[in-house]
Amino acid sequence: MVKPTLAVIGSGIAGLSAAWLLKDKYQVTLFERHAKPGMGAYAVDVGNQGKRVEIDIPLRIITAGYYHELFKLYQTLGVEIERTDHAGAFFTHTGGDVFHYKNYNVGKYRFSFLNSPKRLSRTNFQQGMAAIKFFRDIKKVDIEDIKLLTFGEFLESWPSTNRSFVDGVLMPMLATICTCNYDNIKQYPAHIIIGYLTCGVANEGVWKATHGVADIVAKITQGYEVKSHSQIANITSSGTAVDIVLVSGEKFIFDQVVVATQPQHAGPMIAKDQPALAHHFQQIDFATSNMVVHRDSSIYPRPWHQISPVCYSVNPNHQRPMATVCLNKSMPTVKDCLPVFQTWHPTQTINPDTVLASVTFERPIISFESLNHIQEIKKSMQKDNNRIWFCGSYLGDGIPLLEAGVRSSLAVANDLGVKTPW
Ligand SMILES: Cc1cc2nc3c(=O)[nH]c(=O)nc-3n(C[C@H](O)[C@H](O)[C@H](O)COP(=O)(O)OP(=O)(O)OC[C@H]3O[C@@H](n4cnc5c(N)ncnc54)[C@H](O)[C@@H]3O)c2cc1C
Repeated sequence: MVKPTLAVIGSGIAGLSAAWLLKDKYQVTLFERHAKPGMGAYAVDVGNQGKRVEIDIPLRIITAGYYHELFKLYQTLGVEIERTDHAGAFFTHTGGDVFHYKNYNVGKYRFSFLNSPKRLSRTNFQQGMAAIKFFRDIKKVDIEDIKLLTFGEFLESWPSTNRSFVDGVLMPMLATICTCNYDNIKQYPAHIIIGYLTCGVANEGVWKATHGVADIVAKITQGYEVKSHSQIANITSSGTAVDIVLVSGEKFIFDQVVVATQPQHAGPMIAKDQPALAHHFQQIDFATSNMVVHRDSSIYPRPWHQISPVCYSVNPNHQRPMATVCLNKSMPTVKDCLPVFQTWHPTQTINPDTVLASVTFERPIISFESLNHIQEIKKSMQKDNNRIWFCGSYLGDGIPLLEAGVRSSLAVANDLGVKTPW
């Protein structure tokens, strides 16, 4: 039987998982503007002496407590995962110690606690106690009571808020996880951030795909066609089909189209055909940031062996921390390579001769206002005979992380008649 045709636009985790979920029921073609499927568009070789060791930019870490659908997807695809160390060391921008913790594995137990006794300063100890209290008390918050508060308003009114821990540790960590400014974090609906913080992130340790994004992409792109270097300019629904036009002028017709780009890229594609709907995409805010992979060890505090893998430099006058991951410490495959670092939002000059890659990213920001626009986008898909669908991490009811991307593609697949395979 001839299958109906379906185009997926964008190959981040949302587009890749949508295409993979829909490939048996539809004849799927996936369009990606970059040369490689997006989830793996940025990678760099950090090996030395002729040995190739590829790392993803950015590294993407996951936790068992929060990433339920992603874990099941990886399991179904046969993607191996392994534990990785992302314990943090927090410094002021002038190098003062704030807080260091380490992930400990004792038998089958895993927990985070203060780092080496050599780094046990008074501040470190106070921040450690504050962290324990924060993660204990936040589990007791009744989400119904704070449903209408932003995270900033919640922190202002919550009796357990410890300003020094919030400003010196929590905010830098959240800004790095959400890749945005502190003000953006404060505008997040409190229940979204609290939902993330109470899922075991502080005590169960983190995981990553063992063989990186290249392995995921190889597995998830089976069974449908991928057209790279294919940037979509315009999408029009005629009622019985959908026309898509590439920037190159090439045209295609499909029975259904799934737009799996970030909102700021989806809006312009439908602006001519559906200006009112396009407006909702354009109202969803996004943050831009820079990630540099380099070998400039001057950016990482000394002595090396005492510092946890992720080092935050926090300047109270800045809206974001500088966060540097020492890849040799956090990734087993990079352990024996020359020192190599991935720095988000560099605020210190990195020796240009040591730079291996520099990439600019965009990331949606969730606020009560953007949730209203997201609601309108979701409503547009409930129309009779709808043929243009949207997925992406911004539509996945949570922080726009990989998990939300998969949740959003599952929702579209279910609406298009495909049952969740797990
Ligand atoms: C620095 C950084 C670190 C992160 N770390 C983590 C982490 O540790 N864990 C985690 O879970 N998440 C992490 N994330 C978030 C995660 O990467 C995103 O949630 C995820 O990539 C979103 O997937 P998506 O499919 O919604 O969108 P995207 O990944 O943005 O994919 C959209 C795709 O659409 C393509 N596209 C856009 N316009 C067009 C067009 N006109 N035509 C064709 N193609 C187009 C883009 O090229 C892109 O490939 C991180 C993000 C950043 C920026």
